[in-house]
Amino acid sequence: MQLNYIANASVPSSSGRTIAVLDPSDGQTFEQIQRSNASDIDSAVQAARQGLDSAWRKFSAAERGRLLMRLSSKITENAEELSQIEQRDCGKPTRQAKADALALARYFEFYGGACDKLHGETIPYLDGYSVLTWREPHGVTGHIIPWNYPMQIFGRSVGGALAAGNTCVVKPAEDACLSLIRVAQLAAEVGFPAGVINIVTGYGHEVGDALARHPGIDHISFTGSPSVGTLIQQAAALRHCPVTLELGGKSPQIVFADADLDAAVPAILNGIVQNAGQTCSAGSRLLVDQAIYESLLARLGAEFENLRVGPASLDLDLGPLIRQSQQQRVWDFLSDAHVAGIPMVAQGRVVDEAPQSGFYQAPTLLRDVPFDHRLAQEEVFGPVLCAMPFKDEDQAVALANATEFGLVAGVWTRDGARQFRMARRIRSGQIFINNYGAGGGVELPFGGVKSSGYGREKGFEALLGFTTLKTVAIRHG
Ligand code: NAP
Ligand code: MG
Repeated sequence: MQLNYIANASVPSSSGRTIAVLDPSDGQTFEQIQRSNASDIDSAVQAARQGLDSAWRKFSAAERGRLLMRLSSKITENAEELSQIEQRDCGKPTRQAKADALALARYFEFYGGACDKLHGETIPYLDGYSVLTWREPHGVTGHIIPWNYPMQIFGRSVGGALAAGNTCVVKPAEDACLSLIRVAQLAAEVGFPAGVINIVTGYGHEVGDALARHPGIDHISFTGSPSVGTLIQQAAALRHCPVTLELGGKSPQIVFADADLDAAVPAILNGIVQNAGQTCSAGSRLLVDQAIYESLLARLGAEFENLRVGPASLDLDLGPLIRQSQQQRVWDFLSDAHVAGIPMVAQGRVVDEAPQSGFYQAPTLLRDVPFDHRLAQEEVFGPVLCAMPFKDEDQAVALANATEFGLVAGVWTRDGARQFRMARRIRSGQIFINNYGAGGGVELPFGGVKSSGYGREKGFEALLGFTTLKTVAIRHG
């Protein structure tokens, strides 16, 4: 049985209730987590406040940085254990689970190194005055983490918040808690004071909601669906609490006729297959120059047919989806496609070793998807790629921008001037030219426009969001 982690101690929920933890590869229960409630959130927020006032505030920036770096090393040492935990809890193929653990270590390394480089300014002003700005932590920050990349999203959000001097209360998704509980224990082992990192597990509508409403939370960082993002903003608005939101996307991969297809094809595949398509920045819409539409679809179709799906431990191209309701969600989209007469180009295959009780979905390539159909508008969050042709650059831009989202876009062309024009005209938080994702570097600010959210995580930029600026004006004559 897994417990909450509050003030460097493992504690049960005051409710005495638990939630079953399933392995998505076989659908079987193998663990229990706490079904916490508002009073557990209250205990965690109090612990975080005490940790801030009694210890964390007194650390110099350099000392904070050294501690974050120590945690980074500890995570690297324990990467095998963490990735095994994640593989079972989330159904991630071995390589993905390992990559997530190492990315988490890299976040703590990056933010550890950034702690003592974050500073304010002096501002020239009236004679007799000196004016300076201080970057101060918000205080206690709340982090609501989704299930698709728990370790990576913890790294980018909690890593940045700690570096800026905040203490944290974390609510992981109920489907993906185990690795984060372990990371909090590792943090205590390397010397993080009690109350700096607190983990409370439970349902979103219970503990997530309690965290968003708690008056002791000074900033909320949320990654998840647009609908819950709205609820978070409403709760935060009641007490004017600042929020950072990352709400996913419907990101286009735009391929012009002059593109290097040998580079584009593997990146297009990976952009929708990675983590079984359960990626906020998945390249889920394929916009193709009509001159190469048929030939590119033929090539991609052959690649899709070679893709294999199976239990996480087999480390195939795709593991299972996170849970049965997510599998049902993907089926619903595909059945809508069928009803609308949207043609299927190709599908991968679920291997025979995959238990019937696991949550598997074969990757699917659809073509001629009308731009206003829900398949081309809504986040499927599964391995479904929707292709559509365009006739010229203007139409490519119009289609790229024709959703409520704006998180990431990929553009494939050898024409240098067009690369810049496209980068300027697409409304999106990140644009990748002749690549997709740039290896996911922690240095690269990440976040969206429109319904993809606002605020930035990752990179140095994130530290600005995890601080508040104080202006100090001194009249000395
Ligand atoms: P979700 O409900 O938005 O969950 C995200 C996080 O918010 C989880 O920790 C969840 O907790 C919590 N939460 C849920 N309801 C809450 C509430 N009323 N107040 C506060 N916190 C709350 O997303 P989901 O249902 O897991 O997935 C549904 C769809 O969201 C996906 O199919 C996908 O389209 C999108 N999504 C996007 C991202 C992304 O990276 N942008 C990540 C995940 C999902 P519990 O899960 O424990 O209830
Ligand atoms: Mg699980």
